[in-house]
Amino acid sequence: MSYTAEVLRNAIEKSPNEPEFHQAMTEVLPTLQPYLDRHPKYERAGILERLVEPERTIIFRIPWMDDAGKVCVNRGYRVQFSSAIGPYKGGLRFHPSVSLSIIKFLGFEQIFKNSLTGLPIGGGKGGSDFDPKGKSDREVMAFCQSFVNELHRYVGGNADVPAGDIGVGAREIGYMYGQYKRLTGLCDGPLTGKGISYGGSLVRTEATGYGLVYLTEKMLESLHTSFEGKQLSISGSGNVAIYAAEKAIQLGAKVVTMSDSNGFIHAPDGIDVNIVKTIKEEKRGRICEYLEYAKNAEYHDGGLIWSVPCDVALPCATQNELDAIGARALIDNGCIAVAEGSNMSTTIDAVDMLQHSGVFYAPGKASNAGGVAVSALEMAQNSARRYWSFRRVDESLQKIMHSIYTNISEIAERFGAEGNLVAGASIAGFRKVADAMLQQGVV
Ligand code: NDP
Repeated sequence: MSYTAEVLRNAIEKSPNEPEFHQAMTEVLPTLQPYLDRHPKYERAGILERLVEPERTIIFRIPWMDDAGKVCVNRGYRVQFSSAIGPYKGGLRFHPSVSLSIIKFLGFEQIFKNSLTGLPIGGGKGGSDFDPKGKSDREVMAFCQSFVNELHRYVGGNADVPAGDIGVGAREIGYMYGQYKRLTGLCDGPLTGKGISYGGSLVRTEATGYGLVYLTEKMLESLHTSFEGKQLSISGSGNVAIYAAEKAIQLGAKVVTMSDSNGFIHAPDGIDVNIVKTIKEEKRGRICEYLEYAKNAEYHDGGLIWSVPCDVALPCATQNELDAIGARALIDNGCIAVAEGSNMSTTIDAVDMLQHSGVFYAPGKASNAGGVAVSALEMAQNSARRYWSFRRVDESLQKIMHSIYTNISEIAERFGAEGNLVAGASIAGFRKVADAMLQQGVV
């Protein structure tokens, strides 16, 4: 049995009830085997065994009171996966589906993603099964404050720096930052995604979506084409989806779909992203409300978003949203590229189908790294007590995404997997972390 197969088998046996974590390891580990074969020092040092075991897992109770005076209890998580190359960094997700398995898969992915950015940040992730949807601002604040009453012991600018993810945007980050400051008396940049008036970075809101489009631009370039005139199918209508749509439209594409967990809109003439912003960012409404503002669209309650013909698909909602049925529809309709905005958007069999059918595919750990990259730039600005201009941050983001693409495609080619960005991203992300671990001894 190969080294990677053995580590994978043992890790699955050790944590049997964590299917999403198993999936994330199954996607990454086998692709590392050719690199590990050439460099046996990593196996001797037990690097993989250490990498699949989080440095620390914190699980805690979050009691809070709702507007009716009832005490509610949620469960909180912070998984500090790897600090080999810098302080733990990774978002917080508030969604009823959150479990240890989901946080571990996200934290594991984050190690590789953060390494790919070229910036000194380790991997971590956290969150809660709390659902902010339908809660009043006061309820969200009460929950966030209680969450931080526990979390503040483990985070800080040089230790662990969380950010947003599903269900955690500017409002939640603000409440958590306020409580952290109140408890610790410190303004040491314990969170990123902060408001601009108290240490946030310009472009952080746009970063993941813009970054996704910058990387996809390079993929299209290598196919000798561009966004100009392309039909795009985007899923989700949250932070990542909105800013991916905005940038792609600026580059000449037409976005024909967007969705939420209830259904999707299809606008053959192109979606007006400013309407989506109004519905989602201002009104916290549902995507079906788009039809109240625009006539040239239809709404599908449920249904398969990937059955709408497109040239490029950008899944930007959640894990495993693109399965074999969706992949079949994209392939049959002539889609040429899929780049993940959400983490692990695509099931393993769907990735295989896309790759075997010649659809150019980018895994989230590379294509959605723009958010964490700008978070790291926010940390740099906080340390220097400076603000950078929108243009400076946006140019840095663009440079980082382009160099991620170049790096992972060159490495894939060097290891006999030309065009396989999954292999390229895994090996490129792994090398830096593994070398740092070797140099730091058995810790
Ligand atoms: P938001 O909460 O802003 O938006 C999430 C969107 O996805 C909403 O439209 C939501 O619909 C939809 N969605 C969420 N869960 C499901 C589900 N189970 N089924 C169908 N639709 C669902 O989150 P973000 O845009 O920030 O995050 C989206 C994805 O991008 C996540 O996978 C996240 O991990 C990833 N990501 C985010 C980064 C960031 O900087 N924000 C950075 C890197 C990756 P509804 O409102 O109905 O729930």
